[in-house]
This record gives sequence, structure tokens and C-alpha cells, in this order.
Amino acid sequence: MAVQAGRCLNVAALKYVGKEVVIKGWVHNRRDMGKFVFLDMRDRSGLLQVILIPKELTETSRALLGDLKSEFCLAVRGVVQKRGEKQVNPNLPTGTIELLAKDVEILNTSKTPPFELENTLSVNEEMRLKYRYLDLRSQRMLANLELRDKVVDFFRGFLHEEGFLEVETPFLTKGTPEGAREFLVPSRLHADKFYVLPQSPQQFKQLLMVAGVEKYFQIVRCFRDEDQRGDRQPEFTQLDLEMSFVTQEDVLQLNERMMIEMVKAVASDKHISSKPFPRIPYYEAINEYGTDKPDLRKDKNDPNELAFCWIVDFPMFEDDGAGGITTAHHPFCMPSPDDMEFLDSEPFKVRALSYDLVLNGYELSSGSIRIHRRDLQNRIFEILGLSKKDIEARFGHMLEAFEYGAPPHGGMAPGVDRLVMILANEPNIREVIAFPKTGDARDPMMGAPSELPKQRLDEANIEVKKSIKSIKSIKSVRSVK
Ligand code: ASP
Repeated sequence: MAVQAGRCLNVAALKYVGKEVVIKGWVHNRRDMGKFVFLDMRDRSGLLQVILIPKELTETSRALLGDLKSEFCLAVRGVVQKRGEKQVNPNLPTGTIELLAKDVEILNTSKTPPFELENTLSVNEEMRLKYRYLDLRSQRMLANLELRDKVVDFFRGFLHEEGFLEVETPFLTKGTPEGAREFLVPSRLHADKFYVLPQSPQQFKQLLMVAGVEKYFQIVRCFRDEDQRGDRQPEFTQLDLEMSFVTQEDVLQLNERMMIEMVKAVASDKHISSKPFPRIPYYEAINEYGTDKPDLRKDKNDPNELAFCWIVDFPMFEDDGAGGITTAHHPFCMPSPDDMEFLDSEPFKVRALSYDLVLNGYELSSGSIRIHRRDLQNRIFEILGLSKKDIEARFGHMLEAFEYGAPPHGGMAPGVDRLVMILANEPNIREVIAFPKTGDARDPMMGAPSELPKQRLDEANIEVKKSIKSIKSIKSVRSVK
């Protein structure tokens, strides 16, 4: 009886020398040797060489021999055998064995893929994203998905061990101010109203602290309708966390320990430049490095160096560029107790209990100790120039919640995409996201965003402006040419 393993058997086949097995997977490549054919068969575990000798095959399989091409999906029954000494391939985990095929079943044929699936980094990105399911067949992309899975799995395990609770929070919600434009979702049931997709679960995680959860985390998607850059996507993933009854020191310590242990567990080829992570006050970073995301690697050519550092003492407020005042991070950050006296007189002088975690010149995470009292939160909104009415309409629920014994709390939210990108030595986060968007926020595979039938728009109470419609028709006329 053949070992029936649907998937991931290739590398495990090492255990089955002399046994009959059925492997299922894709033809990675084919080499015709005259009297016989070699196929490298690929499944998620890796490659296995299959040798097809006509006289060993069933009659039906023999007839198929000429048809088997790259990326065909096959089931092959055969006997695992040791390769001759000269045939051993030391570069392949299964390089000491091969499968002597007895029977081949074509599960599906394949068109010739539009690009080589070997090293797709140099392939036109539009093509890669249109055929992402093929791009993801490449070894590098699979390795990136696997690394990401390991990182996320580590965080879940670590935080559960520390007593954190993973809680899901809504995607259909109301705006939270974190500096970015929000995606709008029209409400069908409430004709003139909108949800927005959250920039982060900031308010919900704070409300979970009011609820007594004490230690919360979530691997969560965040949505920001911003112009795209290399390390930005309209949707991205954070390891969002929040803790009650903690000081800034507690939050930094826990996260530092988590990062160090994560590197040990999932990226042991990497080394961290300095432990404990250096802590640099914001103004010192600006003066010394000209940035609040300094790249502190000692050897920038070392692909395995990880230089973490903390930037602390961020200002609470900054110039909004139009002569007004805005928050440097978000309005829920706790002003530093030492600077409270300047809140009204010299707000730009006030520092916040907020911090960033920086890795190799990338901002990996922001975080802060939060305000947990109504009066102070209200005062911050007033300093920001919000009217009473505005405060009530936008943040009334937070202020009210703070009146029910809200505990002191704080947290942060490391970006998973950036972290995995750096660990994988990839040039941008699209390489570590299964289905990312293009630089201009499209998904060429799904064809998103797309126009919708009028009926759907009517249902959602939406009317597209005439001027936009005419721009579109001009564009589509152009693209016909
Ligand atoms: N919600 C914040 C952000 O996404 C992070 C935090 O303050 O925990 O930047």
C-alpha cells in the first residue's frame, strides 16, 4: 500500500526509502535524457527528483510521458530509492534519493506561466501581482510566507504566555485620529451616514482596558488611505497591544524582551547590535542623526545585523504646517508629568510619554502611555482647537468611558510587515504580504478597485460625480488606443 500523503511529502520521502509512496505536486522542471525523463516535482516542502523510465510505467502513464510539462499538477506513485553516489545532489535536501515512478496521473494541466517562477524579484511587478498565485509558488515568496507565519506564531505564543488576551475589534467603525486619511464605507441602512475603516484599533484597545481586560493584543489589519511609498500599503498588519497599570518602563521592557526572544526563535542567523536596546531622546536623535529613525547598524553591509533602538520623549504637539497645532502622535498620549505646567502656556515644549521602536532605520512601532482621565483628555482636545461640540461628537464615548474608573494604561503596535521585511532582507513590504496592492493602490489580480453597477450604488445611496465619470471615460478612451 502506497503512503497516501496529499501534500508536503517530498522532503519526508527521505524516510521512505524502499517504500512505495504517492506524491502530489507540480512539475518544477523536466529534463529529457533520451531513454528516460527526470521531473523535479515540487510541493510545499520542497523538490523531489522523479525518474520516469518507460518500462517501469503502467501503459497509461507511458502514453502521458510526452505531455508532462512545467507547472502541471500531478500525482505520481512510485518507489523511493537511493541515488547512485555520482547522482547525489548535496544542494538539495532530498538530493540523496529519487522516486522511481510507476504511475502518473495528471490532476491538471498548466499553461506556460507568464514568467519564470525561480527568481521573480526582477520580474515586472504588475505581472507578478496579476499572477500572484504563480509568483507565490517561487521558493523565495513561500519562504517569506513561512517566516511571517513563524513571527506571528511566536508573538501569539509569547503574549499568551505573558497572560495577554487576543481580542478582535471592529473594522466598521468611526474615525480615530492618527494623522492619516481614512477609507470611507457608506452605510446602506443609514442613508446619509458612513463607517470608516480603522487606522488602528487605538480607541477600542483603550476601551478594552476600561473593560478590565488588562493585557490585550491582536494581530490586526489597519487601513490608511495615504499616498503609497515603498514601505506603505493601504492595508497593513500590526501587532497591536495594550496593558493596564503599567509604566512606560514596563511596556519597553516587555517589548524589548519579546523582540529579542523572537529573533532567537525565528531568525537565529541574525544578531542584535546592542542589548539592551539604546534609548535616545527625540531631540537628541534629531540633533545627532537628523532623523527620529536612525539606522544604528555598525556595518550597513551586514545583512544579518539588527540594530534596534528606542526613541523616547517625543513632543506631545507639533506644528500642523498651517500655523496651527496638532499632535505628534495621537491625542491619547499622556503628556509627561514634568511638562504638565506648560500645557497651556507653551504646548510645543511639552513632551509626551510616547516612544518609537526603530529597527535598521525603519520605524517599527509607536506607542505611549495614555491619558485615562476625562479632564486631561478634554483639555488636550481643547488645546488642539476642537470645539465643545466637536469633542462631544467625535470623542464623547471615550470621555464618558474615562468616567467609569478607567485604569492607567499604555501600549504600542509593532508593524508586522516591516518587521518581516527586514528579517527576510526584502526591499519592500509587498514581498512579505501575500496579496499586496501596487504603488497606486490597485490589485491587478482581482481588478480592484472597480466600478460598480448603478443598482449597487443606488442601494448604497451613492451618486458618482459627473465630472469624475467624464474623466473616467476620457481615460478609457485613451487606454483603448
Ligand atoms: N495606534 C498607534 C499607531 O498605530 C500605536 C499605539 O499608540 O499603540 O500608531
